[in-house]
Amino acid sequence: MNYDDGNVFARILRREIRAAIVYEDDRCLAFRDIDPKAPLHVLVIPKAPIACVGDAPLAQRELLGHLLWAAGEVARREGHGDAFRLVVNHGAAAGQSVFHLHVHVLAGRALGWPPG
Ligand code: AMP
Repeated sequence: MNYDDGNVFARILRREIRAAIVYEDDRCLAFRDIDPKAPLHVLVIPKAPIACVGDAPLAQRELLGHLLWAAGEVARREGHGDAFRLVVNHGAAAGQSVFHLHVHVLAGRALGWPPG
């Protein structure tokens, strides 16, 4: 999918929209979901313009790995390093509504399996 830099997460990255930021480094930003589905619900996004996880080229595999590391770091910092779930929706039919790649970090309640 083509990347549209008018999406809400691109605007958060440009600081045009406020977000409750919990972690940032040179490659990613993490902030609280505005409509949390668990006591901890943070989104980890790359600073690079990638619309969907499956769109990332091979050259960005290290960045994808970094997002997973950052998601774990967020969970640890937030006191949920023992149990958390990461979710990445790819495509509208899978539930993706914002087309800037994001990793959901969910914790703090029982997380059923299989997911919906
Ligand atoms: P997805 O459905 O996987 O694309 O997830 C998008 C997530 O972004 C949803 O959980 C929304 O609640 C969240 N969201 C949308 N707008 C904002 C915003 N301005 N700040 C924080 N989270 C947002």
